[in-house]
Parts: sequence; structure tokens; C-alpha cells
Amino acid sequence: MLGLRSCATLAEAAGILSGDRQAVLVGGGTLVMRDVNEGRLTEGTLLRVTDPAFRQLNASGGRIELGAGVTMAQVLASRDLAFLHPAARAIGGPAVRNMATIGGNLFAETPYGDFTVALLALDAQVVVQAGYGTGRGVPLEEFLAGRERGTLPGLITGVQVSRPANPADFRFRKISRVKPKGIAVMSIAAHLPAQGGRIMQARVAYGAMAPVPVRARGVERALEGKTLDAAAIQAAQQAALEGCRPATDAIASEWYRREVLPVHLGRLLAGEAR
Ligand SMILES: Cc1cc2nc3c(=O)[nH]c(=O)nc-3n(C[C@H](O)[C@H](O)[C@H](O)COP(=O)(O)OP(=O)(O)OC[C@H]3O[C@@H](n4cnc5c(N)ncnc54)[C@H](O)[C@@H]3O)c2cc1C
Repeated sequence: MLGLRSCATLAEAAGILSGDRQAVLVGGGTLVMRDVNEGRLTEGTLLRVTDPAFRQLNASGGRIELGAGVTMAQVLASRDLAFLHPAARAIGGPAVRNMATIGGNLFAETPYGDFTVALLALDAQVVVQAGYGTGRGVPLEEFLAGRERGTLPGLITGVQVSRPANPADFRFRKISRVKPKGIAVMSIAAHLPAQGGRIMQARVAYGAMAPVPVRARGVERALEGKTLDAAAIQAAQQAALEGCRPATDAIASEWYRREVLPVHLGRLLAGEAR
């Protein structure tokens, strides 16, 4: 049988999640409740967090803190988060965005997880709280590697990112067959900070090109120290597939994903409108 329990504090939820293997946190519930409704989840306790900190958004400064329970609609309502709007707008339709949380997106199985791709390109830290102690920051890339291995982290209380010095340095693109709310063939995010016209410490991430969102390290290397001209974009396209392990699913075949990735990466880097 399934039970439902409300937790007034993050610590209470984290404590229960650590001690009870059958406890399942409900963020917005867009995925969890589908499992319940379709009979895949029939035992255990569904945990709801009512602690206001879970939905708190602190985005006015350079260091941005987003509670894991912040929804895509909340992101879209924040002018301070305008650079993240393309990624938040890429999640489902309005009804889904009203419920879907940032925390839940971190766990969404590929080809979902579009917002997480944006966070990965921004070098986000995930705040993990295991048990009743305080939370600790874990690089998102590390969290995703653990998720792929099947490690359960406990409660994610929030996510932290640094604001890009120039909003134009951050780019996001989701490629889908059905517009505007189709599931991703792939999504690509790039943070391309530049000094004196040369790219320094680029971070590029893909969704739906591996079992979890991954960094495009070959592309990052190809862009390092370069001006973003046609030659640099071509070099990046040549390195685009490094580290990719796309699947064949109902949306696209592995072959198709590999074929079109360099094209879409080139368009994103060239700043072409869709
Ligand atoms: C019609 C439809 C369209 C969709 N379209 C998209 C799309 O375009 N792109 C996309 O990326 N996704 C899409 N999704 C998937 C989903 O809505 C989003 O990924 C969403 O962000 C998941 O968040 P949630 O809060 O609803 O997750 P939930 O369903 O609440 O949780 C999902 C999983 O994460 C765990 N979890 C959630 N929060 C935490 C936390 N803070 N700590 C620990 N564990 C946690 C839950 O226990 C569960 O296992 C779609 C879903 C539907 C139904």
C-alpha cells in the first residue's frame, strides 16, 4: 500500500529518505504520479516537503540559489533568471511547467532532463542532504555520474550556479520533432565566457546523447582560447561526438542523433536563430 506523509522541514524529509528505502520524494509529481497512476509504484511512502526553503529562489546576485522544489514556472516568472528561461520553457507545456521542479528534473530519465543540461553547462552544484545533518555541495557532473551508477543520493535541497558575466555567453537549444513541447531529440547548452575575444573555460553539455546529461569535453577543448569564428566552430563540430552514447528510442535513432548533433551544435555556436 502507498502512504502519504508531509514533512515540515527539509531535515525531516532527508532523515526519512535516508532511513526508509521505500520512501519516495514527490517534487512536482509529474513523473512520480505517473508511476503511481500506471501501477509501477504501489508500495511505500510518498513524501511531500512543505518547508518554504524548498521552493525558495535567491537570484538577485552573482551566486544564484534555487530550492529543489522551485518549479519551471517560478524560473520563468523571475526576471533575474532570464538567461535560464529558454531551458525552463523547453519543459513540456504550461501545466507541466507549473508542477515540474528543478530537483525532479535532475532525476528525469533521458530523453527528459533538459533543464539539467543547462545547469551542467553552468557548472552547478547540487546540495545533497543525507540524514538529519546539513547539506553538502556536490558538482552536478558528479551527481549525474552517481545517478548513472544507481547511487541514491538522499534529498536534494537545492542547486547553486554562478550567473554568467554576460547573459549572451550562455546558450541553450532543444531539438524536437514536435514544437513547441515535444520530447528532445537532443538538447545542447553552452557557456562560452570570453576574455579579449577568446573563449576561456567553455562548458558545453548535451541531453539525450548519453544515459544522463554529459559534458562535451572534445568541444570544450576545441574552443579553448579560440575566437568563435568559422574555423573554431568547424573544429568543435569535428569533436562533437566525443563521449556520446545516444540511445535509439521512440523519438529518434542513435544513428540520427549522431548525424544531426554536429549540425545543431554548429548552429548554436554560430548564434543562428532557429
Ligand atoms: C507531459 C509531460 C511532458 C514532459 N516534458 C518534459 C520535457 O520537455 N523536458 C523534460 O526535461 N522533462 C519533461 N517531462 C518530465 C518532467 O515533467 C520533468 O523532468 C520535471 O522537471 C520532473 O520534475 P518533478 O518535480 O515533476 O519530478 P517528480 O515526479 O516529483 O520526481 C521525479 C523523481 O525525482 C525524485 N525527486 C524529485 N525531487 C527530488 C529531490 N529534491 N530530492 C531527491 N529526489 C527527488 C523523485 O523521488 C522521483 O524519483 C515531462 C513530463 C510530462 C508528464
